[in-house]
Amino acid sequence: MVSRLILVLGDQVTDTLSALDAADKTSDIVVMAEVAEEATYVQHHPKKIAFIFAAMRKFAARLREDGWDVRYTQLDDTENAGSIPGELIRRAEETGASEVIGTQPGEWRLIQALEDMPLKLSLKPDTRFVSTQDEFDTWAEGRKALRMEYFYRDMRRKTGLLMDGDQPEGGKWNYDSENRKPAPDDIAFSGPMQFTPDDTVQEVLDLVDSRFGNSFGQLRPFWFATDQTQARRALTHFITYALPRFGDFQDAMMNDNRFLYHALISPYLNVGLLDPMEICRAAEEAYKEGHAPLNAVEGFIRQIIGWREYVRGIYFREGPDYPRRNALNHQRKLPEFYWTGETEMNCLSKAITQTAEEAYAHHIQRLMVTGNFALLAGINPHEVHEWYLRVYIDAFEWVEAPNTVGMSQFADGGVIASKPYVSSGAYINRMSDYCKSCRYKVADKTGPDACPFNTLYWHFLDRHADRFAKNQRMNQIYANWRRMDEGKKATILTEANAFLDAL
Ligand SMILES: Cc1cc2nc3c(=O)[nH]c(=O)nc-3n(C[C@H](O)[C@H](O)[C@H](O)COP(=O)(O)OP(=O)(O)OC[C@H]3O[C@@H](n4cnc5c(N)ncnc54)[C@H](O)[C@@H]3O)c2cc1C
Ligand code: SF4
Repeated sequence: MVSRLILVLGDQVTDTLSALDAADKTSDIVVMAEVAEEATYVQHHPKKIAFIFAAMRKFAARLREDGWDVRYTQLDDTENAGSIPGELIRRAEETGASEVIGTQPGEWRLIQALEDMPLKLSLKPDTRFVSTQDEFDTWAEGRKALRMEYFYRDMRRKTGLLMDGDQPEGGKWNYDSENRKPAPDDIAFSGPMQFTPDDTVQEVLDLVDSRFGNSFGQLRPFWFATDQTQARRALTHFITYALPRFGDFQDAMMNDNRFLYHALISPYLNVGLLDPMEICRAAEEAYKEGHAPLNAVEGFIRQIIGWREYVRGIYFREGPDYPRRNALNHQRKLPEFYWTGETEMNCLSKAITQTAEEAYAHHIQRLMVTGNFALLAGINPHEVHEWYLRVYIDAFEWVEAPNTVGMSQFADGGVIASKPYVSSGAYINRMSDYCKSCRYKVADKTGPDACPFNTLYWHFLDRHADRFAKNQRMNQIYANWRRMDEGKKATILTEANAFLDAL
């Protein structure tokens, strides 16, 4: 029988992968490869590269134990062809195979590269999601606006999660209004479960250190889970100790606590060490047992079967040009401090320093600190997109681009967000303790000590008034701007311009 090559990518380390399901263990050959092209097409955070390589090596070992013939190429193997198509062609020559079976990659770039290969290719749908692309497209068809909330309700109905017959548990679909509590004085959770690197992880860390040690971000300490058993332990730890308060402080930010009650499961979920329904069922169970309240569990489940599925649907529906969109024509370069954390703006300095050290920041830090600043300052959204893709351990284009280009930078012109996510310093002050230890004064609207978010906020609204002033959800804000004294307006705009010129 002629062998076929079964491609397993770094974010496809899942037993039930559709490509493996379609394969014949007795004759087909699994191909896995650590290649320079994937590790360097943007300069990823070293923790991200180490996480993926370690998870791949452990998964390959597991497949071998399970009886698969796995051809695994390590990054420093001399015959490494350097790219996924190159490796497949090399393995095809080595084995006589002429056909490749894969699971659809989560990035247009790689789909294109595979389709351009001179080998017969069959890409199976990625079934590790709650919704199929067809389902999403059918939902989206003919709608004026693609609002996540309505898609989410369909996913609740489809999965039966938190449903009471055909009605939502507790009578409401969404308990977000209860999930906006400001940062408490202290957090009764010691953070995500951390794992001591085993021999495989140590070996990978040494490799990554020698090859990518100069990229942005710190490789060590490295404590992420790198196999399914560890990832499941991390999930149980979160459900037991953090989920009950996840909702309350979901949007809070603190100087001295990087993780608050967040799950830190996105890396595991995105490479396939955890399954979305497994996670959601565990959270639902915690609610049914009275261990976690409805606002926490609903909020958590919404992120996974709502936001996560929705952004994936948008990415594949909108097409390969999506990451290049720039609806607001923002052209400024990304400020240097995004790479150093060296800025007097404490919120940005904290979020960026944490990102360098952990390869992680939680949603509100990404959206309302680094993202908000980039949008207010008019940074080119493609540069912002590349930054997010590089610096976070959970960043894969299908999920990163809609969040950055769409939700955060409004560069898709409103496909995802019905209005731009912008705020002055007041929001950051309400949700964090950052402002207390900042050189700027959040209460000052103008003057040498004024929080830069305060002047930039009005500068953004003023320069985009043509687009947003008629947006119903922004009426009130524009009414405030119009009512403002002309002299004060002029001072705000002059100071904002001076700040931007100095960036
Ligand atoms: C500008 C920007 C860029 C982002 N880039 C990424 C990215 O590259 N990869 C990524 O997985 N998430 C991204 N997100 C979404 C979100 O910030 C992360 O999923 C979350 O911070 C991961 O940490 P956690 O596991 O502790 O999440 P929790 O707050 O504990 O939430 C639980 C889970 O819900 C899912 N989730 C929550 N919000 C979203 C969302 N908006 N989109 C998709 N899934 C969501 C994640 O899988 C997450 O693990 C981005 C958000 C913004 C604003
Ligand atoms: S005062 Fe402004 S710049 Fe400083 S931490 Fe607060 S929001 Fe950030």
